Amino acid sequence: MTDEAPWAAGRDASWYDRPNVHSSKVVHMAGQRIREGTASQCGRSVLDDDMKWIPEQVPQPIRCRSNGCRQAFLAHPPAA
Ligand SMILES: [Zn+2]
Repeated sequence: MTDEAPWAAGRDASWYDRPNVHSSKVVHMAGQRIREGTASQCGRSVLDDDMKWIPEQVPQPIRCRSNGCRQAFLAHPPAA
């Protein structure tokens, strides 16, 4: 359980050697807290919690489609 509203974010580029790879445009749903910060629901990335998105405001094309994030985003359809 968490007392926090669901949020989404891009991955924390500073965590990687090459911050400018194009996949940094993908926005993930926040998942478990880990030592480095907050992991994405898909478990692939550490999120940049200085750049949080309200899930409903994340445009469909940049939503992470990996297993985990995909299901989490389904609860937050894009605002029209
Ligand atoms: Zn993801």
